[in-house]
Amino acid sequence: MLKNWFALGKKPKTFEFQCACCGEIHKGSPSFSYAHPTQYGWLLEDERQKRAELSGDTCVIDGEEYYVRTILEIPISGVEEPFTWGLWVSQSKESFERYVESFNNDQSKDGSFGWLTVTIQAYDRTTQDQEFENVACDVEWQGNGARPRLIPHQSDHPLYNDFVAGISWGRAIEIAQTVMHPSG
Ligand SMILES: [Zn+2]
Repeated sequence: MLKNWFALGKKPKTFEFQCACCGEIHKGSPSFSYAHPTQYGWLLEDERQKRAELSGDTCVIDGEEYYVRTILEIPISGVEEPFTWGLWVSQSKESFERYVESFNNDQSKDGSFGWLTVTIQAYDRTTQDQEFENVACDVEWQGNGARPRLIPHQSDHPLYNDFVAGISWGRAIEIAQTVMHPSG
């Protein structure tokens, strides 16, 4: 989708819109992130200190659940910068330990598998039995301290389609408004 734009010789634009919820002009491609995996949010305040270790990039619960923070980029048609999500995915013990041990090195030739275990309001497909989006992802590790990038596996989840095909300007506004003003 983006390629067509460039082929037409149109200059990619900077994203901005006047918000239908608050009336303000929100400038720049939307970027939203989660401060921790959902599982961490389930813990009560005092349990968090006893049972979990959380940093800006990693989370471990009960010494047996492992999560890393990653970036998912969704192209917006005709826009230079993608719609960016900061999301947590689960990791196997082996992958997590390798990730942490090599954290200060160039990790760009390495990667892992992870399940997207957050709930994204704008994409919510969760049910009572299925509490997360449960999108299978390849996690591409990076060099120079950048967060790993998510590559969703092919599925019928709309997140996969948006990742591959990109989203329209209008859809980007819709998603951004849903996230910024959940009740509106
Ligand atoms: Zn707004």
